[in-house]
Amino acid sequence: MNKQEYIEEEEKVLLHTYNRFPLVLDHGEGVYLYDTDGKEYLDFAAGIAVQAFGYNNKEYNDAIKAQIDKVMHTSNLYYNVPVMEAAKRVLKVSGMDRVFFTNSGTEAIEGALKAAKKYAYTRDGHAGHEVIAMQHSFHGRSLGALSVTGNAHYQEPFEPLLPGIHFAEFNNLDSVAKLINEKTCAIIMETVQGEGGIYPATQEFLEGVRALCDEHDILLILDEIQCGMGRTGEMFAWQHYGVKPDIMTSAKALGCGVPVGAFLMTQRVADMSLAPGDHGTTYGGNPFIGAAVNKVLEMMERDHITDHVKEVSAYLEEKLDEIVTKYDFLTAHRGMGLMQGIVCEKPVGKIAAKALEEGLIIITAGTDVIRLVPPLIIEKKHVDEMIAKLEKVLDENHF
Ligand SMILES: *Cc1c(COP(=O)(O)O)cnc(C)c1O
Repeated sequence: MNKQEYIEEEEKVLLHTYNRFPLVLDHGEGVYLYDTDGKEYLDFAAGIAVQAFGYNNKEYNDAIKAQIDKVMHTSNLYYNVPVMEAAKRVLKVSGMDRVFFTNSGTEAIEGALKAAKKYAYTRDGHAGHEVIAMQHSFHGRSLGALSVTGNAHYQEPFEPLLPGIHFAEFNNLDSVAKLINEKTCAIIMETVQGEGGIYPATQEFLEGVRALCDEHDILLILDEIQCGMGRTGEMFAWQHYGVKPDIMTSAKALGCGVPVGAFLMTQRVADMSLAPGDHGTTYGGNPFIGAAVNKVLEMMERDHITDHVKEVSAYLEEKLDEIVTKYDFLTAHRGMGLMQGIVCEKPVGKIAAKALEEGLIIITAGTDVIRLVPPLIIEKKHVDEMIAKLEKVLDENHF
């Protein structure tokens, strides 16, 4: 079959929930992907911030292959060593006390919300608590996660969603303070908003929200699914701010391709929230994902991935300064580390499509942002290559 035939066959069988780029990817090596025609692409999307170590990393592959040969799944009715090791590592790098492994980011959000509700239930002796979330946020597509996702377009067909969710304006402390009442059990936000357009929380906002939470015994839930795992130059973005959440979610690069998420919490929240019978999962935390998470975290720590991200992202930001100065329809760039957005007045979807023709994979965020979330192992030469390809697309101006 040729590329067009693969695409047509796939369109016949999969539910049409995505307007995909016309690309049939076959394999990857380092920071490059190759399609079924053998064409090479420099990857600045990393499967949406997942492939921190790029593709075909031998050490990672060997670790998960070895676990496949031993045992992949046993269920949570028994103990297994890989998940114990993975849990120890993720607690060490996050400074949290307890972790529950899920199969996706969305499920991590579900678990975080349930933990917050149960905490308030234990404290007050009754249910009926409310949550404050942020406008332009993204937390996932299940009904619970969608309920805290501040995007009317995603929500509307599925209403009524969870009751008692109120939306504040991100980076506006007053708008959060106004929504707090005696029923509020949690404030949930991304430390750096991803899908909404790459907006980092300001220091003042995050500190202010933390203070409001402490004052009213409200739990702060930070969604680190996209911005965590070294991407911003710290293992978790909140570590830049010195503002610790009570509950935190992770996924995407946590397994580097193996589907896994996690929600983590402090001991105080654990003691007062989910107990036997309150939550569960068949696959979550099985030996296979345990081996993957364990290896990812081992490699990130040993290779000082956050130092590398700081260094290479400083260079990327310099280059983004230059490109924003050069093209008048690029108005700004913002982000942290290797999570960067270029604000663009031309149709960003078309630019991403044109970039594919030049052998560059980039994605978008919001309606007007070119999103760069490359593998964390990129080097300066890859930044140069990306800029050269992007400039070619922008110079041609066919979008
Ligand atoms: C991707 C994402 C999610 C959802 O994760 P899935 O693994 O797709 O379920 C939630 N929150 C944020 C910030 C994300 O970027």
